[in-house]
This record gives sequence, structure tokens and C-alpha cells, in this order.
Amino acid sequence: MSEPPAFEIVNAKGSSQYVLTCEHASNYIPARYRNLGLPEAELQRHIAYDIGAAGMSRLLSKALDAPLVLSGYSRLLIDCNRPLHSPTLMPAVSETTEIPGNRNLSAAEIEERATAFYWPYQNAVASLLDERKARGQNTILLAMHSFTPVFKGVRRPWHGGILFRKSERLGEMLVQRLNAPSRPVEANQPYQISDDGDYTIPVHGEARGLEAVLFEVRQDLIAAPEGQKAWASLIAQALD
Ligand SMILES: [Zn+2]
Repeated sequence: MSEPPAFEIVNAKGSSQYVLTCEHASNYIPARYRNLGLPEAELQRHIAYDIGAAGMSRLLSKALDAPLVLSGYSRLLIDCNRPLHSPTLMPAVSETTEIPGNRNLSAAEIEERATAFYWPYQNAVASLLDERKARGQNTILLAMHSFTPVFKGVRRPWHGGILFRKSERLGEMLVQRLNAPSRPVEANQPYQISDDGDYTIPVHGEARGLEAVLFEVRQDLIAAPEGQKAWASLIAQALD
């Protein structure tokens, strides 16, 4: 059986100033990894991918005429939004679930996964950004993610979060436009961008001098196509 590619680019030549990325788009794990020792049900959870993020990102790409790069494999194999030195790059425990197939990985195994699933994605994002720069096209980078409503037993009150460090003005504007009494959206929740816990915003965004923010939408709100459509159109309006 042939394996899917490590990344997919949608609308590569899109005219928008926005470029979308989706690091946790897929829960796919090749058969030879035997689900990393996990029961199938665990692979349907947020630990394996960002539920709804790929569908929402595709709709947003269409609405904005923006390029979109999606990763092709589960974050449990290797997390495309982590630097290679991150302790959660290939987690032996994710949230509270042990990942047997990530225990005691050899340097060779780590390198094999990085070569097969990580660098092809990072290089695709980098090439896309290089090409736009060469064409003189302005770029604002948007990383699209979803989060679990309950993490380690704690309920999270937000419907969405806008995560940013340097792009304060853009980030605050998006919070202001998306936040509503019935739809709490907050800055830098449920996570904060860090050099150890993130790759896309620090490396593909900030290090290139690009405006860059990360969207987090609560996964149950975008698990179904209607929710993905609603949030894609909300975000498109906020970006207008
Ligand atoms: Zn994510």
C-alpha cells in the first residue's frame, strides 16, 4: 500500500496576503508503526491530531484565496509544530495517555521519522514562503489549530484563542473582532507561543520577519462540517 505524502499544498498560487498552515491536520499513522501500540479509539482523539482543523482550514483557504499547507501524518509520530529538541516532539505520554511506540526511541528512529514526516512539511512551508518573497508578495502567516475542551480534567472556558508574540497588533485586533459574550475568544489561550513548544510561528513567521498568529478553535465546535463552515467564515470576516 502506498503511503500519503508528508504534506499537501492547496491553492499554492493564491492571491491572498495570508498563508495558512495546518500542522496537526491528520491522524494518519503508517501500518508499520502498528498505531504506536495504541487502540484505534485513541487515534480519533485530539492527542493524534487537531479535530476539525483541516476542514476549517480548507474552507478558509477558499474564502481568502490563500495558500494552505497541511501535514500528512499524525503528531504522535512527530509533531510538525515542535522544534527537534522539544521533549514533546515524539511524546511518550500525551495528555495522560502513554504512547508505547514512542518509548526509548533510538537516534536512528528519530532521524528516520524526521526525514520522512517532518522535514518535507517544513521544507514545503519554507519553499512556499521563499517563492512568495521572490515574487514580492507580502505574507501574513496563520497557523490553524484546534484544542480539546477538557485538558487533564480541567474544563477550558474559551471557544477560541489567538496566539501571538510579536504580532501584537494583528493578534489583539483578531481577538477584538472574534470575541463575543456567547463566543469567548482570548489572547494567548489556551497556550502561549514558545520557542520550545512551537515551530511555525517562531521559525516560519517571526524569524522571517513576517506577521504571524496562531488560531486555536475548540474542537467540538468544528468537529462537523457546519461548524467548520461557520468558523471559517467568522475568521475570514475578521481577517478582512
Ligand atoms: Zn494543533
